[in-house]
Amino acid sequence: MGRRPETRAVHGGEERRGAYGALTMPIVMSSTYTFGGTDEILAFVEQKAASGAPGRYEYARYGNPTQSAAERKLAELDGGDRALLFSSGMAAISTCLWSLLGAGDHLVVVGGVYRRTRDLVSRHLARFGVEATFAPADELPAAIRPSTRAVFLEVPTNPHLRVPDIERIVEWTARRRLITVADATLATPVNVRPLDLGVEVVVHSATKYIGGHNDLLAGAVIGSAQRLAGLEEARGVFGCVSSPLDAYLVLRGAKTLPLRVRQQNEAAFRLAEFLESHPAVARVHYPGLPSHPDHPVASRLMSGFGGVVSFELAGGLDAAAACVDRLSIPYVGPTFGGVESIVQQQALFVSPDPAERAESGISDGLIRYSVGLEAVDDLIDDLGEALKGLPVRRRFK
Ligand SMILES: *Cc1c(COP(=O)(O)O)cnc(C)c1O
Repeated sequence: MGRRPETRAVHGGEERRGAYGALTMPIVMSSTYTFGGTDEILAFVEQKAASGAPGRYEYARYGNPTQSAAERKLAELDGGDRALLFSSGMAAISTCLWSLLGAGDHLVVVGGVYRRTRDLVSRHLARFGVEATFAPADELPAAIRPSTRAVFLEVPTNPHLRVPDIERIVEWTARRRLITVADATLATPVNVRPLDLGVEVVVHSATKYIGGHNDLLAGAVIGSAQRLAGLEEARGVFGCVSSPLDAYLVLRGAKTLPLRVRQQNEAAFRLAEFLESHPAVARVHYPGLPSHPDHPVASRLMSGFGGVVSFELAGGLDAAAACVDRLSIPYVGPTFGGVESIVQQQALFVSPDPAERAESGISDGLIRYSVGLEAVDDLIDDLGEALKGLPVRRRFK
């Protein structure tokens, strides 16, 4: 039944008639699930041996009812058979790559990825004999080797909001039977559904838009039941499950995801247009703007351009510092996707070393602005005040 995203967000995964007649999914805090006696234990063991799925709860590291409900909702939102919830986005990504790859396997990481994903691949997986190549999207065919097993990408990337052409990438990877993994944290299933484009595994940091209220840490992996079976087994061994309370917050946040993301798409678009017209702004990175290099790809693949806008101030580090200090509505900090607007001075968070910043393409005047749910006119007024008197970009004739 092809229900629309808003309906799936509210009702997906929920029990129509749950325990006690409760409308909302209870937060089931039990760490263990008991058996009535030997017959029940035997039935459990036989069922697990026959189908691989236990068919009931046993011990909370292997799952609990609140977590299962959140997983069903996330699977519906992304259009996958199955979702697995984790204690954080990094727990989801680590478990995913650790269970898909082994010694001697090669991974291609496309474009810019989250800094900790880069660390996971280059510092940790490398110690276990997994080799990796970091390559721009258009150099993917050249990066693929006989030992390549998977391709990892982000859509869009952070903070430059580049949008890899997933359809083209999947054409290359499908031909070679490679597994494509997409981190769609910034896009959310509202703006892009990578599984519909042929990607095999989607990961999210649910800490950002899916939770949406800056009050939880969680991650998710979505894909086919067959592909996720190995990941589920690994999660039970690694122990990086989501707690029932966090799972409940994911469920609750996800109900308003489409509503929030659509509002944030619209507001960010207006903020991006305002910034592009402002003389103190040297450059705006927003895939909804025709000036963005991936605007055509984004228009084809995404149904909205997202709630994050990055921009570079003509006055560099000092201007970015002045702007951030003067802004009165957004918080200053290292996250995005919540109801509260939040800004981050990229240069200061990435590295105090200018050479290292240049290597990651972070210019000194770069600010990432995650648009919350405040009135967009207030956000624009606030930005206008913060940008007053800052050095302006040169206009060449
Ligand atoms: C935040 C983030 C992660 C990591 O998620 P956590 O929930 O913080 O562990 C991974 N990928 C992207 C794109 C992110 O923004």
